[in-house]
Amino acid sequence: MARPCSSVPAILVVGSINVDLLVRVDRHPCPGETVPGEGGELLPGGKGANQAVAAARLGGRVAMLGAVGSDAAAATALSALRDSGAATEQVLALPGPTGQAIVTVAADGENAIIVIPGANARVDGDRVRSCASLIASAGIVVSQGEIPASGIEALAPLVRGRFLLNPAPVIPLPAEVLRAADPLVVNEHEAGLVLAGLGVPAADIPAAPQGMLRALRGQGIRAAVLTLGAQGALVSDGTGTWHVPAARVEAVDTTGAGDAFIGALAVELSRGKDLVEAARLACRVGAAAATSAGAQPSYPRAGDPLPELA
Ligand code: ADP
Repeated sequence: MARPCSSVPAILVVGSINVDLLVRVDRHPCPGETVPGEGGELLPGGKGANQAVAAARLGGRVAMLGAVGSDAAAATALSALRDSGAATEQVLALPGPTGQAIVTVAADGENAIIVIPGANARVDGDRVRSCASLIASAGIVVSQGEIPASGIEALAPLVRGRFLLNPAPVIPLPAEVLRAADPLVVNEHEAGLVLAGLGVPAADIPAAPQGMLRALRGQGIRAAVLTLGAQGALVSDGTGTWHVPAARVEAVDTTGAGDAFIGALAVELSRGKDLVEAARLACRVGAAAATSAGAQPSYPRAGDPLPELA
């Protein structure tokens, strides 16, 4: 079933490919409540594909390792990835449904998301191990929590370049996998869950971002980026901690802003930038992604004007 792994990418994204059903609401429904919505567009999404598209649009040499289903949604899921120039030879088309996400965006720009894995559930340890040579050849390998934990566990020891891990959603992963990340990229919510997963008692999990980074370092995570939405990002590279301000924009839809940030971070790291420099461009790209609807449709291309940091 698997095709041979051939091309040598600067950035290899091992992750999910979805279709997003985008729904706009005034406010999110509470449990048991029904609220009216608008929209209903089907857009290409999935954290893996989002990050791959963001990186490829910015000029990164990107390959995607993932899977779609055999349904009509597969073409939509792959549309922007193919347009972006990312290599898709290692995206398998498997029997069954393509992964789907129901993305609800409220009037204040905040989103709530339900993800149905579909074919992404097959990007597991066996599939990842079958691409060992491709993984070892990549300069930067990027992964997220929308594939099985077995896939990420198999991936970490195969990476010879840099391992950019975005454990989102946070799934149970062994400590050594999290410690292999360079960097680990999380938002505040995810940072708390990662610390809890590493065995830090709830009472000892800091509320403030600086404290969270310190706690992650204390757990053996050598480099971490904490994304802070409209506050930018906090970067810890093992030698110190830096705050990178956000670019000031009118946020319309923050869906996929974190993925745009990670795609840009990977491109800058692949060009030899240090983590703080990379995070500066990533904050501008993340902000740009927040200024229009959807995830991939909102991502800038190389040469597009980007908002300046505050
Ligand atoms: P996630 O979507 O994963 O929770 P964040 O909301 O922290 O991630 O957003 C990722 C990055 O995108 C932030 O670090 C920031 O640089 C940028 N960003 C997100 N929302 C905004 C916003 N409202 N204004 C400016 N930049 C933003």
